[in-house]
Amino acid sequence: TGRHSFDAVRAVDDTLAMLAHEARAAQIQLHFERPKEAVTLHGEPGRLTQIVTNLVVNGIHATPPGGTVTVRFGEQEGARTLQVEDTGSGIPTAVLPRIFEPMFTTKEVGKGTGLGLSIIHDIVTGHFGGEIGVQTHTGQGTTFTVSFPNKGPEAP
Ligand code: ADP
Ligand code: MG
Repeated sequence: TGRHSFDAVRAVDDTLAMLAHEARAAQIQLHFERPKEAVTLHGEPGRLTQIVTNLVVNGIHATPPGGTVTVRFGEQEGARTLQVEDTGSGIPTAVLPRIFEPMFTTKEVGKGTGLGLSIIHDIVTGHFGGEIGVQTHTGQGTTFTVSFPNKGPEAP
């Protein structure tokens, strides 16, 4: 633990390896579109693990067998991004404004705590100084985009 610069691609590799069994059991293909260049983030690698785990598990839960959950790194407006995209149910318009609230869940009692996205939101903003957003299409799927601030020129 402790904050330092770390290899985010490797952290995602390790996280997805831990989730492979759950994906296979749900008959979901788990893809990682590996970036050509290294992605270095500053923070605790375990925090990135939490983000990826929660988003991928949500994606698996929302996606019928035969679907896919894809993780990719990218760039938007000069900021590094991490996306988790699924081919699942999508998020209904009525539900969407509430998904980052603590203890909001649409899952059956005992199946979801509703804490995942609120914790992730706090980690993204508080720990990494980034942002999280969501795009969703009912019946087609959902993409969560986490953006990380770029290091200033003075940063190590
Ligand atoms: P939980 O997974 O315990 O329900 P979360 O905070 O992780 O809590 O998610 C809150 C709610 O947001 C879920 O119950 C679900 O309704 C919705 N949600 C989150 N991710 C997805 C997704 N990938 N597809 C569809 N709905 C989602
Ligand atoms: Mg969840």
